[in-house]
Amino acid sequence: MSKKHAPISVTRPTLEPYKAYEALFRRPVESGMLTISTNVRELEAKVARYLGVKYVVAVSSCTSGLMLALQGFKLKGEVIVPSFTFCASALPVVWNGLTPVFADVDPRTYCLDPESVKRLITKRTSAILATHVFGVPCDTTALAKIAKTHKLKLIYDAAHAFGSARGKARIGTFGDVEVFSCSPTKVFTTGEGGIVATNNKKLADYVRQGRNYGEGQRGRLEFAGLSARMPELSAAIGLRSLERLPQNLKKRHAVARTLIRELTRREKRLRFQEIPSGTRTTYKDLSVYIDPVIGFSRDELHDFFATKGIMTRKYFFPSLHQQPAYKAFSRGVRLPITEDISSRVLSLPLYAHLSTGDVRRIVKAFEDFLHDRQTH
Ligand SMILES: *Cc1c(COP(=O)(O)O)cnc(C)c1O
Repeated sequence: MSKKHAPISVTRPTLEPYKAYEALFRRPVESGMLTISTNVRELEAKVARYLGVKYVVAVSSCTSGLMLALQGFKLKGEVIVPSFTFCASALPVVWNGLTPVFADVDPRTYCLDPESVKRLITKRTSAILATHVFGVPCDTTALAKIAKTHKLKLIYDAAHAFGSARGKARIGTFGDVEVFSCSPTKVFTTGEGGIVATNNKKLADYVRQGRNYGEGQRGRLEFAGLSARMPELSAAIGLRSLERLPQNLKKRHAVARTLIRELTRREKRLRFQEIPSGTRTTYKDLSVYIDPVIGFSRDELHDFFATKGIMTRKYFFPSLHQQPAYKAFSRGVRLPITEDISSRVLSLPLYAHLSTGDVRRIVKAFEDFLHDRQTH
């Protein structure tokens, strides 16, 4: 007897009953102030306090935040970026007329490998842009040292890492600037949106003007910016997300721990992303690495889960240096670790309100998969 189940998504935003948003939605609707008003300002102040950073500017997306931050630093030449990341890490580089140079990642953390970065530095390099992959903090110490030695800007794509930390310092306080995404698949969401966090006042002012066309005092256009404001209604969702964040992070961690424990119990050779000691991740994604010695491939597991209505995601595959849009910049570079990880990791369903029943269904499906392979 097979019971019909609703499909399990790989991710869902954890929202509250409508009532929880009502008062915050009322403010912009009743005042007619739909942009850059009380909700956005309150969100910026509360996020700055939460992250422990001096300046926070709310923007329309992580992508626009990165575009403005790179523009604000007036960079030239080359920017070293990972290939194992979402396209929106490299896209702002290209839009600024800069050349992305793809570096390899660490095989344990999947984050930018400082040694690979060092090998790619040339006279034309002006910045390093690194992603805290799936919420695991980059080697911020090594990267800061390289940036300082070579006088490079250090920019973090922190799209996955709202709530991550290294020691007592939250992600959002590292490098010259960190940019978060608040899209619905991220841990902290505003519907759509981005957060630029920095201790650099000049850059914060630049991004603040830049999100509003580049307009300065008395309508003076200082530079060609973007139209990239966070709407008041989005900020309302953000204010609730922020309040619920500690609770949601706890639940995500509990779900991740259960899945790791139960899946590993059934197949000891599964590997999971390493979380360096002293750091904290958000589990934006729970990614499992399928070593070919186990006797099945990532793609087979993905397809089997799909037949059971369990959605998984091949994140990030193909990696950027193998994508048509970015191949031209990759100069045929080989990134062995990136290529290996990208073809072998699979993001499993994970969100704060994933039920214990659904967790059991995922584990049971994995059992069935292993069983099928033994009997065929
Ligand atoms: C989602 C994501 C982005 C883009 O975020 P937007 O807010 O949609 O622009 C950038 N980088 C990474 C690593 C992401 O996962």
